[in-house]
Amino acid sequence: MEIQYTRYRLTCTHPFGISRSTHDWYDVLYVYVHQDGITGRGEAAPSERYGEFPDQIEARLRSGIELPRIDGPPEDYQAELELLSGGIHSLKAALDTALWDWWAQKQGRPLYELFHSRPDQAPCSSFTIAIGDFDLLAQKVAEAEPYRILKVKLGTNRDKEIITEIRKHTDKTLRVDANEGWDLDRAREMVPWLADRGVELIEQPLPTNRLEDTARLKALSPIPLIADENCLTGADIPSLADSFHGINIKLMKCGGLTEARTMIATARELGLLVMVGCMIESSVGISAMASLAPQIDFADLDGHVLIDNDPYEGMKLVEGKITLSNRPGLGVRLTLEGGGLR
Ligand SMILES: [Mg+2]
Repeated sequence: MEIQYTRYRLTCTHPFGISRSTHDWYDVLYVYVHQDGITGRGEAAPSERYGEFPDQIEARLRSGIELPRIDGPPEDYQAELELLSGGIHSLKAALDTALWDWWAQKQGRPLYELFHSRPDQAPCSSFTIAIGDFDLLAQKVAEAEPYRILKVKLGTNRDKEIITEIRKHTDKTLRVDANEGWDLDRAREMVPWLADRGVELIEQPLPTNRLEDTARLKALSPIPLIADENCLTGADIPSLADSFHGINIKLMKCGGLTEARTMIATARELGLLVMVGCMIESSVGISAMASLAPQIDFADLDGHVLIDNDPYEGMKLVEGKITLSNRPGLGVRLTLEGGGLR
């Protein structure tokens, strides 16, 4: 099987700020696999939080990595993908996604069908209001009008002001992501305060090395605490069950759809809630994760609507509801020519 790739810069509609960083753009790498006249697509959107960078991925792809001829489902090729990706999870995610796209297209079926996902059971996605200019909050809430759930990034020294301001403009369901930005004292104060203001869940309140503190917080929290930075792959899940009510699965952390499906099963066995999330990604990565969205409790799949130059279209958010494409494979279509995009 042939592998090709191209690098592409996604530009953010608003600067994307979270507790630890702000970005105006992100570079991603599209990976294309080709065999038997069919091209499968995958996307690597590396995160510096996990020590992964576009240059590192590009160097690995440029070194001429090779796949054998593929004659079975992507589950059968995980050892090869692990080796090829050299431990870079976002690259493995791109390769795994491309193989699933190819495999489903080969059978002429949408990927969600192979995963036994029912499109009518797909939930609404949240829409993210990132950390940025306080004076733009009202405008951002107005721009989020088509979406029914807002996810607010906190972990600043103005967290209560941010929520109070947003609540002046909307009574929509809110979710909060602190991105490790609090300590236990601050979290003890914030969690009940946020619950009183209609916040549905809180992602990663404390740093990853504060699992015991997070367990104390869980004991008093009236709303679910969801592990994000603490939960990369399925191997992390058992140790999180005492500290969190659920986990947030992202392709770029876990290394692809194959591992994501295992993680859903592991979390369910442990009685944990399941959320699916994303980095700033285009419709390739987002449509891949969306194929599992009908199987989970909370979806945060808005990376492709936070950018203004998505070169593909696939899964759509229709009034916030995840609406899967019926086309074979991931169901994505290139809408912008050039730059080696396929
Ligand atoms: Mg998060």
